[in-house]
Amino acid sequence: DSNLILYVNFVLVNMVSKQRYVVKDLLGQGTFGQVAKCWVSENNSYVAVKIIKNDPAYYRQASVEISLLHVLNWKFDPDDKHHIVRILDYFVYQRHLCITFEILGPNLFELIKMNNYKGLSLNIVQMFSRQILNALIVMKDAGIIHCDLKPENILISTSVKPPEIKIIDFGSACVEGQTIYSYIQSRYYRSPEVLLGYPYTTAIDMWSFGCIVAELFLGLPLFPADSEFDLLKRMIETLGGQPPDDLLRDAKNTSKFFKHVGSIYRLEDDKACKGVTSAYCVLTVEEFEARESKRPEMGKHYFNCAKLEEIVANYPYRKNLPEEIKKENLTRVALVDFLRGLVEFDPGKRWSPLQASHHPFLTGEPFICPFEPPPETPRIPVIHTVSVDHNPGVGHWL
Ligand code: ADP
Ligand code: MG
Repeated sequence: DSNLILYVNFVLVNMVSKQRYVVKDLLGQGTFGQVAKCWVSENNSYVAVKIIKNDPAYYRQASVEISLLHVLNWKFDPDDKHHIVRILDYFVYQRHLCITFEILGPNLFELIKMNNYKGLSLNIVQMFSRQILNALIVMKDAGIIHCDLKPENILISTSVKPPEIKIIDFGSACVEGQTIYSYIQSRYYRSPEVLLGYPYTTAIDMWSFGCIVAELFLGLPLFPADSEFDLLKRMIETLGGQPPDDLLRDAKNTSKFFKHVGSIYRLEDDKACKGVTSAYCVLTVEEFEARESKRPEMGKHYFNCAKLEEIVANYPYRKNLPEEIKKENLTRVALVDFLRGLVEFDPGKRWSPLQASHHPFLTGEPFICPFEPPPETPRIPVIHTVSVDHNPGVGHWL
């Protein structure tokens, strides 16, 4: 195994600055390596240290994470106002690239789980949505695509009140126009253009964002698909409609999912589609109980309706007072309109983060009719060039 063997009081040292990090706990583990909670005696504080596997491929990927976070932190968010995790230090220790971050608390999936998958209150959903959008505005300005936005990669900062969230894990991120990988994003949050193999932009993060907002409110993923085909069918059933024909015409993987019927595209598995009348049915008791302990994967059996409007109108059920219900129902209508602009099949029509930030669901203005976003103002061309430094000043790996 190419992981560094860690134990309590193991000391990681930045050989250049002589800064010492004393391992106290393990915060996370993944394919890239490990994340440890470390003690810094000088300032009597904790940091999170991502210790990358002793492997050139992971080293290179983590170098990209360092470069992009540097740009985001120092060029675009020097005052730490935009809900993006702060990178503090990086160094190589025993051939492991180590990145230190400010320490944060539980992630949004853990929060949903702590709440027994019943969904968060609309106030909290609005607050977190505003904060995530704020980060996405900055990321779009920087021309940086996160590529793996999901509740697990959004952490709650426990050091401030009211609670603040921060986006972490730029380990899959890339620069717009320099997209190398085609197999990106976690399935539930994967955009139609990535699924179908069409050139992608920062708009893919907006799709994921829409899925996250819905999940924060519902307590369950919007598209809990168990395969790519299932994902596409769920999108079509829940949203009503399908990706636009010009996208289907130009996408690489269209023939994997669609057959060409005259001038229109039909889902390949037409019969199967007919059989599936709903993306959602009520959980059985056993399933519900299983869900208490682990992430619900069973997807197919959630709610008893298919359309986005019905899902948001009917779930989650809340035991509110009649007056509160009336107010909440109005906000739910605004939420559906908000989600429609985000989980929009056409990446060209999908709202930008700035456009979405004007929506009444977030601003609190009364929602009267479908929101027309202000036109996207042409962006000031990005003056900086994000150069991805594959050896960010930490000496040679091999
Ligand atoms: P990956 O998803 O590529 O495995 P992440 O950067 O998401 O790597 O980190 C893995 C896990 O480590 C996170 O899901 C989280 O639980 C924990 N973690 C990462 N960064 C921090 C941090 N700054 N503070 C607290 N926990 C963290
Ligand atoms: Mg992660």
